[in-house]
Amino acid sequence: MTARLQDKVALICGAGSIGPGWGNGKATAATFARAGAKVFCVDLNMDAAAETAAIITGEGFEATAHAADVSDEAAVADMVAACVAKYGRVDILHNNVGIASLGGPIDTTLAQWERVMRVNVTSMFLTCQAVIPLFLEQGGGAIVNVSSLSATKAARPELAYATSKGAVNALTINIAMEFADRNIRCNALVPGLINTPMVADAMKDIYGDGGMETMVAARDAISPTGRMGEGWDVAYAALFLASDEARYINGMLLNVDGGLQHKITSGKG
Ligand code: NAD
Repeated sequence: MTARLQDKVALICGAGSIGPGWGNGKATAATFARAGAKVFCVDLNMDAAAETAAIITGEGFEATAHAADVSDEAAVADMVAACVAKYGRVDILHNNVGIASLGGPIDTTLAQWERVMRVNVTSMFLTCQAVIPLFLEQGGGAIVNVSSLSATKAARPELAYATSKGAVNALTINIAMEFADRNIRCNALVPGLINTPMVADAMKDIYGDGGMETMVAARDAISPTGRMGEGWDVAYAALFLASDEARYINGMLLNVDGGLQHKITSGKG
């Protein structure tokens, strides 16, 4: 049986992780490579991109590390050119970059708001704008954007983050509809509570540096399954959406949340 992403070139933005362990982007890069893709691992932090690429090549699969700030238009153009120079094409664009930000409408500063919008939304606009012309030339392609359940469920004050993810949902649907007749699909993953280094970092202001066990226990308890998800859960969903198996799935906002969307809950999650 052919590997699910055999000979595909996957451009993964945010392929590193901000801490030790497996974040969503890092797990997705490894999963795509194990499924046969050539993976172009992009991250703001070159060491993080290189770590992911080294894991992949160490397993005998194909990966290249590249440093870029995907909220910068020129850097995005260079990134796409570098991927094409290395692998000749782009078949999959995986937009994982996103930063957390706590705060409500009164305490969120304008600078914080603009940074979150720039990194979480403008980056996806820029990467899609740079890659879609290639997809059109090549006769198709798949985009997977990483959104969040925060777009539609308010667990804690995180106005800028939640609003940015709502915009990711809208961006996804609009791109999906515009190019549906040209073999370009655009879908989003909507993770719920996932146990990743990013969450540990974002939540330390709520739980304190020593409060990680409390944080994990609280988030596990909120999850309908009794445990948070892992980066691998997001990665396997990404694998499906990126693969040709999902050829008739377009404009989908796919929850990866263990059913959390259906639960009435409270608490600071
Ligand atoms: P992560 O923070 O470990 O990895 C993201 C990577 O993106 C980092 O290595 C970081 O250096 C990089 N990055 C940040 N800004 C960048 C920029 N401007 N240009 C290029 N790279 C940049 O996080 P992760 O675990 O891989 O997951 C992140 C995604 O998952 C985000 O979009 C986040 O909103 C989403 N998400 C996470 C959860 C959760 O509970 N963990 C829930 C919902 C959604």
